[in-house]
Amino acid sequence: MIPIRPNIANLPPYLAGKKEPGKIKLASNENPLGPSPRAIEAARLHLDSMQLYPDGAAAQLTASLARHHQLPENWLIGGNGSDEVLMMAAATFLGPGDAVIIADHTFSEYRTVSRIFSAEIVEVPLESGYWNLEAVLAAVGPKTRIVFLCSPNNPTGTIIGANTLDLFLSRVPPQTLVVLDEAYAEFVDSPDQPDSRQLVRRYANLLVTRTFSKLYGLAGFRVGYGFAQPELIGALQRVRPPFNINTAGQSAAAAALDDNDFIRKSLKTNREGRAWLEAELHRLGLAFLPSQANFICIETGRDAQAMYRAIANGGVTIRALTSFGLPTCIRITVGTETQNRLVVQALAQALESVPVADQLPRYLA
Ligand SMILES: *Cc1c(COP(=O)(O)O)cnc(C)c1O
Repeated sequence: MIPIRPNIANLPPYLAGKKEPGKIKLASNENPLGPSPRAIEAARLHLDSMQLYPDGAAAQLTASLARHHQLPENWLIGGNGSDEVLMMAAATFLGPGDAVIIADHTFSEYRTVSRIFSAEIVEVPLESGYWNLEAVLAAVGPKTRIVFLCSPNNPTGTIIGANTLDLFLSRVPPQTLVVLDEAYAEFVDSPDQPDSRQLVRRYANLLVTRTFSKLYGLAGFRVGYGFAQPELIGALQRVRPPFNINTAGQSAAAAALDDNDFIRKSLKTNREGRAWLEAELHRLGLAFLPSQANFICIETGRDAQAMYRAIANGGVTIRALTSFGLPTCIRITVGTETQNRLVVQALAQALESVPVADQLPRYLA
C-alpha cells in the first residue's frame, strides 16, 4: 500500500448539490434559464476540430475579459472553473507551517485546497451571516499566507461593503494574499458593492476570482478566471496546467460575456424571483438572510437534511447547509417563476411534515 499523505487521507470529499432524476434542481446556484444561447452557438463551431489541443494561453477569452474589465491581459488568468484558480493560488503560496483564514460558514473549497497543501486552517466566525473583517484582521499573523473572502458569501448571500473591504486591504500585511471570491458578483445590486477592478490596481496582494458557472449559465463547461497584478498572475501561471480550459469552453465563455440579452434576462429573472421568494418566506414566517446573490439562506428551525428529503419529495432539490456548519438552514437557488412557486409549495409542506428540532442550535432568530 502506497502511503497517502495524512492530510489527503483525512480530506472529506466535495459534497455537490444533488441532481435527482425528474426533480427540479435548485441546489447549485445554476442559471435557471439554461446556458447563454450565443455561448452554445460559439462552442458548436469547434466540435469539428477537437483533435487539436486548445489554445493553452486562452488568448481570445483573455482578450475578451481584458476588454470587458478594462484590465491589461497579463492581469488575467483562466481556470478550469474558478475552483482551479483557488487551487493554483494554494499551490503557489501554501505549504506546511503556513496558515490560512476562512469563515466558519462558507464555500468548502478554500478549506480543501488549503488542506491539500498542508496549511493550518484558522476559522473566523461570521456574525449572523455577515463578515466581520475586524475579527479577520485580528486573526492575521506572521504565518498567515492567504485570507479567503467570499462576497457575496456562499451560502449566506451577504456582501462585504466597499469601505470595509478597502480599509481591511489597507491593513493586511503585504506578505499575506487576500483571495476575494466573487463568483456571484454580477448579481449584486447594492450600491455598497466594492469595485474589485479598482482594488487590484491598488493592492498587489489581492487576487479576485470570477466564474462563468453562475450568471452565464456555463457550469458544465468549467470556465473561471482570476485577476490581479501581473507579478501575482505570473506566479500563478507557473502552476497552471498547460491546457486547462478546453476549446469549446474558451469560445463559449468569450461569447457569453457579450450576450447582453441573455445577461439582462438572467438578472431580471433573478431580481424578480428573489424578491418574490423573500416575500413568500415572510409569509411563511421564516427567517432568512437578505441576499445579494442568486440564492437565499433560510433558517428552518428543523433538521436541514430532513428538510432536504421532504422538499425533494415535493419535487425540488435544494441544499441542506449541514456541511456548511448550519444544520438547521437550507439554501435555495432562485429559479424561474414556475420553479419558485413549486419550491415554496414544497417548502410549506415540508414545514408541516418535518418536526421542529429543539436540540439543534438555530443560526437565525
Ligand atoms: C459556484 C462557486 C464557485 C464557482 O466554481 P467554478 O469552479 O467556477 O464552477 C466559486 N466560488 C463559490 C463561492 C461558488 O459558490
